[in-house]
Amino acid sequence: MYPPNFEYYVPSTVEEAVGLLDQHQGDAKILAGGQSLIAMMKLRLAQPAILVDINRIPNLAYVREDDKFLRIGATTRTAELSRSTIVQARYPILSDAGREIADPIVRNRGTVGGNVSHGDPGNDLPACLLAMGAEFEIHGPKGIRTLPARGFYQDTFVTSVATNEMMTEIRVPRPGAGTGSAYSKMERKVGDFATVGVGARVVVDSSGKILNAGIGLTNVGPTAIYATAASDFLAGKTDSDAVLAQAAVLARDASAPSPDNRGPVDFKKDMVRIWTRRTLRKALDRAKGGK
Ligand SMILES: Cc1cc2nc3c(=O)[nH]c(=O)nc-3n(C[C@H](O)[C@H](O)[C@H](O)COP(=O)(O)OP(=O)(O)OC[C@H]3O[C@@H](n4cnc5c(N)ncnc54)[C@H](O)[C@@H]3O)c2cc1C
Repeated sequence: MYPPNFEYYVPSTVEEAVGLLDQHQGDAKILAGGQSLIAMMKLRLAQPAILVDINRIPNLAYVREDDKFLRIGATTRTAELSRSTIVQARYPILSDAGREIADPIVRNRGTVGGNVSHGDPGNDLPACLLAMGAEFEIHGPKGIRTLPARGFYQDTFVTSVATNEMMTEIRVPRPGAGTGSAYSKMERKVGDFATVGVGARVVVDSSGKILNAGIGLTNVGPTAIYATAASDFLAGKTDSDAVLAQAAVLARDASAPSPDNRGPVDFKKDMVRIWTRRTLRKALDRAKGGK
């Protein structure tokens, strides 16, 4: 099936892209990797009259770390993210997730900015960025603003980015000593969207006490979910199977899945519990120096 007709623009700067979005507000959409948008257009779930292709804007694809953040340019391909040695060494939650997204073809085209901006609760990166306390740089006609990941997802396919704005950078705070992170995904078969996905970040002190934690959930609600009560519960606790089990119950209670061909509600909620416990254990092992 072909997408409906559209006008196609190829801006060479962020300002030009934002100008086009502003000029054609509501009728124009950013085209990044096209892996979600083109499929939606073919199905007539999206019918933008104008596509603004951001792929030729220079210097928007990078993964680099400074003294405060891991900085990921919006058009960085998800395959590049999981291949980055900085990410593998210090942000394993993102390399775990990057490897779990779809298949190599989708990962080679799909962008980090697109995965984060699309607002599909089945996208794997948002849960990780919620767990890591990330923030997003957004360019609009009135300038640049920075939005925290927590609070960014409002409803399915609805985020805090306005129709005349563009995400340019994803920033993940540099992890301090004693930080471990992990992402795990339960899927029906390789390449599928998650039945349940869990991203976890923990920080432990030298005695093994958990100082703070963050837990994000994929595809078990209308948006990616930050499991606030479960994350807060872990702060100040000593690592034990009982503590992780209690946090996992709280994460389960934060989920609000719908029944579909990946399973009924009760099954999905229980999978949140089980995969949260497992992912927390993996993150804690990494925090304590394990692989
Ligand atoms: C067969 C298949 C399986 C998939 N499985 C998974 C999976 O398991 N896990 C997963 O996470 N994803 C999966 N995906 C989705 C894939 O990862 C997409 O690439 C991703 O969701 C969107 O990225 P994109 O660069 O292709 O964005 P596009 O499709 O180009 O755009 C998606 C949306 O985001 C907007 N957008 C894009 N970039 C920006 C920006 N910089 N600023 C503001 N808005 C922007 C667009 O306007 C559009 O509304 C799958 C896709 C396919 C086709």
